[in-house]
Amino acid sequence: MFTLPPLPYAEDALEPHVSARTLSFHHGKHHKTYVDKTNELIEGTELEKLSLVELIRKAAKDEDSQALFNNAAQIWNHDFYWRSMAPKGGQEPKGALGKQIDKDFGSYSDFKKLFKEKAAAQFGSGYCWLVLNAGGKLKIVTTANAETPIAGTKDVPLLTTDVWEHTYYLDYQNKRPAYLDAFLDHLVNWEFAESNFEAARAEAA
Ligand code: ZN
Repeated sequence: MFTLPPLPYAEDALEPHVSARTLSFHHGKHHKTYVDKTNELIEGTELEKLSLVELIRKAAKDEDSQALFNNAAQIWNHDFYWRSMAPKGGQEPKGALGKQIDKDFGSYSDFKKLFKEKAAAQFGSGYCWLVLNAGGKLKIVTTANAETPIAGTKDVPLLTTDVWEHTYYLDYQNKRPAYLDAFLDHLVNWEFAESNFEAARAEAA
């Protein structure tokens, strides 16, 4: 059975950019509900033995498991999203990842512009991700609803932002671009992305 992973910081640690009220609902209610529903759906079945990633990949291949896929993927996506932010985040990427961002996107400001454009343009609910693809190139991809690169692609996620309305509505109402500015300028956790990048490169080597 899965448990709700704790936030990596206090509920009020991202203020004023993301309020404690938003994090309290987003983590304590939305994320928790995905954990509870997943547990309900697997209780007493052989699926209980699988890790979360194994469960997501198995459910993704089975069209009768859509509800299980949605809830299990949302556990993983939210945990990854929390770690994609940090109090006093919004610095610039450094080291090898910083260099590769310059190479693949032109500059960090070009990256930010494109990430914001793609995240803003994602229709309805979903996520915007920075991934390292199988060819060793950085890409920005968006996914709908609970879809996640770990389910059926070779893309390795380095960073994500949640663009479900529940992410920003209490603080920014319908102004998703204003939330995205706050995410990129004040919250994005490049140390987390860098550690994912280093791990992916070590695995590929
Ligand atoms: Zn969410």
